Amino acid sequence: MKTSKTAMWRVLGYLKPYWFTFGIGMLMYSAQLFLFPLVMATFQESVMNSILEADAQIMWDALIVLGVSVIIVMASIAIGIYVYVMASVKATKTLKRDLFRSFVNTGLEGSQSAHSGEGIAAINTEADMATEVYGNPMSNFLRCVIVIVGFSIVIFVTDWRMGVGALAIGLLAFVIQSRFTKPLARIGKDQLEANAAAVSATSNIFSGGLTIRAYNMQDRALISVDTHSGKLKFLDFKRATISAFQGLFRTVQGWLTLALIFGFGGYLVIQGTLNLANLMYLLGIVSIYVSSFGQIGQTYADLQPPIVAAGKVMARIDVSREQSVRNDNLKANGQAKPEGYEISINDFSFSYKDVEKQALQGISLSVAENKMVALVGESGSGKSTLLRAIIGMYERDEMPISVGGVAYNDVSTSAWRKNFAYVDQSCKLFDMSIGENIAMGAKGNGEIVIGNEELEKAAKRAFAHDFITEIEGGYDAPAGEKGASLSGGQKQRIAIARALIKGAPILVFDEATSALDKESEAYIMDTIYSLRNDHTILITSHNLNTIKNVDMIVVLDSGKIAEVGTHDELIDKNGIYKRLLEQNH
Ligand code: ADP
Repeated sequence: MKTSKTAMWRVLGYLKPYWFTFGIGMLMYSAQLFLFPLVMATFQESVMNSILEADAQIMWDALIVLGVSVIIVMASIAIGIYVYVMASVKATKTLKRDLFRSFVNTGLEGSQSAHSGEGIAAINTEADMATEVYGNPMSNFLRCVIVIVGFSIVIFVTDWRMGVGALAIGLLAFVIQSRFTKPLARIGKDQLEANAAAVSATSNIFSGGLTIRAYNMQDRALISVDTHSGKLKFLDFKRATISAFQGLFRTVQGWLTLALIFGFGGYLVIQGTLNLANLMYLLGIVSIYVSSFGQIGQTYADLQPPIVAAGKVMARIDVSREQSVRNDNLKANGQAKPEGYEISINDFSFSYKDVEKQALQGISLSVAENKMVALVGESGSGKSTLLRAIIGMYERDEMPISVGGVAYNDVSTSAWRKNFAYVDQSCKLFDMSIGENIAMGAKGNGEIVIGNEELEKAAKRAFAHDFITEIEGGYDAPAGEKGASLSGGQKQRIAIARALIKGAPILVFDEATSALDKESEAYIMDTIYSLRNDHTILITSHNLNTIKNVDMIVVLDSGKIAEVGTHDELIDKNGIYKRLLEQNH
């Protein structure tokens, strides 16, 4: 909780560049609860004076003053809201940018752990929830403080005896109402958690549509939705019950206020020690004064969801902070340029975060420039982990990997990743055109910064050009989720074209042909083999027959290198590789 509170201060820190406009706007907006009743109370007093003195002119004058004051107050509210909301929008934008930067900048694990469980929608909601502190809780608190301080002066100056009575009821309201804030705050927190879980359950239904139907899991999926909606409804019920009791006490508080004004105030008027016009004036402000005492505790409850959310948001931002500091330092100090592209791995062990078992143990491997190396091994033996570690997807203090003599830890992540082009089985295509999806390999961000000729050349080498030109729209046809219904094999060829256009010296193919039919696979493998003359290639393939002709085969077994050699050498060895090959047939 303490860290969450610190996180809350950090969320507030995003307002720092705009504190002046934010403060002015917030004050203008928050002062309304003080100014409006004051204007109304003054009007009531004048009306009473006009009646008592039988002078209609007083009322007309008061009406004009009222009209003008209302316009001024309303204008100040509108300007205040605009000014403070604009400042908080800017602060929210910076915070969200930092948050999502942590996803795209960090190693894969930061984003993976965030994706699991709560879901992307929940992450966005949390950021919105954390920045809610810029709005209601703050304006509510400010309003209450302004009203309590301002009206204390006004009421005591008007009549100190009424002041004492109002203060006593106010303090009572504070004590009673603050009893409700803790349970309400707890419910707020529970609702936040329950909502995140519900979003996750519903997004599972959408993302897992095919699997749910194929395995007839509809009932099970719906049960999980039922559970979450039930929990949310129950929390709603609890909140409503507590709020009902809270409302009841507010009514009592209202009666006490009326008793003070009409009972005690009326008594003072009869005694002749309080003027009736003054009583009318107090009537306009005392009840707001009293209820502000009750509401000030509400700020505490309003703050709880933003505090919880701030803790989560800041923890995510911190994931990338350390790394970006490392990257900034490296960029500032200038980075070493690799000499050649020999890959060297020296006694590299790796375990995933929060997983005890090591996924890789004591890997030492050297891949000379322009050599083609295949990693083979049973599923789970560590092939993908090793490839992803090599291309810089995992952040660890000790990364004993170098390219061309430059160690991983001595260059920024982006400089390191320039060495590699990577294609895996997922072949992510983005919601852009096919051409942009390929072109983004060259420059990132998907802008077409290269000529069509180069685009086509890469597509041709990846055996993608022919089918692309046959699709309506060709290279301009949309890819990604909204896109043309591309087959798995077509997507894979587009992804390979994207990798080729990057022009990186080291190409990494992790099951890159897994979605292809035999014929396309053979074509693509021919392409990959043709690239070996001027590229270093690392490859894994479920089909061992396709990698027989590589320069070196590395056999992984439970995260360790078990065998290394050419196809012929490993056949002679009669070990794991031979067994895997036999299973492959
Ligand atoms: P392969 O590519 O040879 O099938 P992987 O590299 O995918 O093997 O997996 C190696 C080991 O690491 C396995 O035990 C797997 O369960 C584990 N592993 C893979 N990815 C993760 C992850 N994101 N988090 C935790 N463990 C993982």
